[in-house]
Amino acid sequence: MQEMLLTGRGGEGVVLASQILADTFARAGYWVQSFPEFKAERRGAPISAFLRWDADEPIRRRYKVRECDVLVAISASPPSARSVAMLRPGGLLLVNRETRFPHRGDYRVARVPGSQVARRNRILSAEGRPMGNVAVLGAAVRLLLPDGLDFLEEAVRARMGTLAEPNVLAAREGYRLCTTQHTIGSDTPYEPAEAPPPRPPLPPFAVSLTDSRVNHTGAWSVERPVLLEACNVCGLCALFCPEGAMRRVNGAMEIDFDYCKGCGICEAVCPVRNAIAMEEVPA
Ligand code: SF4
Ligand code: SF4
Repeated sequence: MQEMLLTGRGGEGVVLASQILADTFARAGYWVQSFPEFKAERRGAPISAFLRWDADEPIRRRYKVRECDVLVAISASPPSARSVAMLRPGGLLLVNRETRFPHRGDYRVARVPGSQVARRNRILSAEGRPMGNVAVLGAAVRLLLPDGLDFLEEAVRARMGTLAEPNVLAAREGYRLCTTQHTIGSDTPYEPAEAPPPRPPLPPFAVSLTDSRVNHTGAWSVERPVLLEACNVCGLCALFCPEGAMRRVNGAMEIDFDYCKGCGICEAVCPVRNAIAMEEVPA
């Protein structure tokens, strides 16, 4: 039996990806099991999904995956060090990124530019963010079930109906663009990021104070807001920011990137044209 952990953020299609991959393995003749684990029920919150597959016998293990043979990071933000530590020696880490993953450990690393593929195929979330999940599945199938691309396409079509075609193209591209990395001398061990220092008390307009102070949600972001000249400092965005990451200080808006998770709500609620825009955080 093989065990997989899929990680990402709410709204990135992590659970859907695990179900489609389970269907793919089932179509290829494997016994499968797939189920998710939700923490906070909100977009942008960490989400895990588990997948087990076995060529020979039904899967009787019922608890969540605690150690895995394969870790698939659906999100374009790096996987947490805790997730990487769950990989068994010799396991496989598959990341959604265009550039090299500059770390080493007792595991193999492969990467696929899933978000780039999604953007090219116009597979976007309601907020306009690329949904790289199916492209990442294409890469996973190439690594784990090399003759299984047809099964993946069937599973995508069965699940997505009329929306399937761009995702089928994304699966094929992900399969084709998957790159296996070799360790090089400059690679470093993958350590947990240092926690930022505690932030000072916030002036008016902060919301969600308690949660935001405890969770350094800035590490989640793959995009970040940029304030532009047309901003009239009305403060509406700060009222809606779910992390309390925006505030008005001395007649200007400030954004605390230790806590901004890149959800884009500030851009969506801003009533002023060209006052705020989302830009990608460099990988
Ligand atoms: S970004 Fe928009 S909502 Fe926020 S303060 Fe500026 S004008 Fe107001
Ligand atoms: S993107 Fe905007 S609304 Fe979302 S957390 Fe960052 S500052 Fe707040």
